[in-house]
Amino acid sequence: MPLVIAMDGPSGSGKSSASKGVARALGLRYLDTGAMYRAMTWWMLEHGVPVEDAAAVAARAAEPVIESGTDPDAPTITVDGTDVSGPIRTREVTNAVSAVSSVPEVRARLVELQREIIGDGGIVVEGRDIGTVVAPDAPVKVYLTASEEARALRRAKDLAADPGATVTVTQAEQARRDRLDSTRKASPLTKADGAHEIDSTELSLTEVVEAIVRLAKE
Ligand code: C5P
Repeated sequence: MPLVIAMDGPSGSGKSSASKGVARALGLRYLDTGAMYRAMTWWMLEHGVPVEDAAAVAARAAEPVIESGTDPDAPTITVDGTDVSGPIRTREVTNAVSAVSSVPEVRARLVELQREIIGDGGIVVEGRDIGTVVAPDAPVKVYLTASEEARALRRAKDLAADPGATVTVTQAEQARRDRLDSTRKASPLTKADGAHEIDSTELSLTEVVEAIVRLAKE
């Protein structure tokens, strides 16, 4: 398989910054699969679908048209032609996304789209199931982690505009999301066979990117 770098790990482990950095350093495309699950969740909420009702979510999973741009300097995400890059980052979507992403029909649809985008490769793909399900033959697989505190701090910075998003609240919401993501039946978050585990707690972004670029050049 031509170069595909699979980047998995829990929320706040630094996957997005590291993935974009690696894509820039190696001249590759970049795909944020989490943004696709968020876009699906945003659409369900917009259409009044009860997100905790798996059958209701499954029944409508084929409807939204989700498109992802793969330029690491300007990744885009649209639903039915509307740019949703801002709305998919709200706490409302963040707290609903694990329920939506646990629905097998949602995963089947998005995995198919993701494989189409990956195509012949030349791409860094970040998510939870890239090395296990979406691209198990990827020549480079990374499992990125960081301590719970470091991850909550990063997320709280992302959510700085939301006054309710203190580090304590963020840490609790994140722990819940990670628990749901790693205990669900459909493609739970887990380290893929052959994945290189990198703990980014004590590393700078540059150090993480350099470590992954080295793996890709091996
Ligand atoms: O990476 P991000 O935090 O934006 O992902 C949002 C959510 O999307 C995750 O909490 C998870 O529920 C879901 N997700 C997934 N599989 C992926 C990527 C994300 O289930 N490959």
